[in-house]
Amino acid sequence: MRVGWRIVFSSSEDLTRASRAKVAEPAFVSWVSAAAESLFATLFPADCRLCGAPLVKISRLPVCEDCLTAVKPVEGIVCAKCGERLAIQSHLPEGGGLLCCSDCRQEPPVFAKALAYGSYSGGLRDLIHLLKYQQVKPAAAVLGRMLAEVIEELAPSLDGIVPVIVPVPLHPSKLRQRGFNQSEMIAAAAAKLKPGGLELAIRAHLLERRRPTGSQTGLSEHQRQENMRGAFSLSRPDEVDGCDVLLVDDVFTTGATVSECARVLRRAGVPRVWVATVARTMKTEVVHAVLRAEPDEEMQSMAAHG
Ligand SMILES: [Zn+2]
Ligand SMILES: [Zn+2]
Repeated sequence: MRVGWRIVFSSSEDLTRASRAKVAEPAFVSWVSAAAESLFATLFPADCRLCGAPLVKISRLPVCEDCLTAVKPVEGIVCAKCGERLAIQSHLPEGGGLLCCSDCRQEPPVFAKALAYGSYSGGLRDLIHLLKYQQVKPAAAVLGRMLAEVIEELAPSLDGIVPVIVPVPLHPSKLRQRGFNQSEMIAAAAAKLKPGGLELAIRAHLLERRRPTGSQTGLSEHQRQENMRGAFSLSRPDEVDGCDVLLVDDVFTTGATVSECARVLRRAGVPRVWVATVARTMKTEVVHAVLRAEPDEEMQSMAAHG
């Protein structure tokens, strides 16, 4: 009786921890206890799941303000095509112009442009992991706000053509295991905010993952491309009908996943594929000479040679 009183009303860190440990006991794991735990966490906040500090505010997301405000967007110059961070070592010409990384210069990506909110590290990576691996679904709203900022930044490039959002799909076996597609949740949260004033429709089942691709960790860029080949297909090719697509994923690592999705979509007649992700692995390319991407440069050279 007394213990119950202390657990419910005490704000002491140790007691809060003890109460959470009790709730999280493996024997209690069932949907009933999961629901009870989430209700308990909503009513009686415990510790920040990122830094462990006691939470002072009641929130559906068990992350403190400090951890949330520490997540910052990418600063500086990024590749105009793939969003890789560039460290420019020479003077920028007047007006700047569009800069591309060496990879995109050598082989222009299949997608029109990819942009990410922040670097896949620190608190942003933790937030994504909270959603994906610890099923803390309220994290999707915060990540969705970040994605909305990315879409807003992409909006001027869209030339007034509103793309349809296609979240990168999970394989059905992975979807069953996780219970939800994090990219779809983040996309839905972002679309609700009407970024750039756009009314964005989501076609979650346009693409499907035909085979599980496993973890790509530890694979080289080339191996990732090989691993992804043939992994996606269109479930309803007739639904493409010439509209642009905005692919949404939680993380852009080497771009192998979104590139493969973009290839399938382009082959089916999608004119342009845009890519928005919450995070991106940043290698940071040091650029000694300024490389410019001229608009439609490839098209012009094709015309000249054709
Ligand atoms: Zn924190
Ligand atoms: Zn690039």
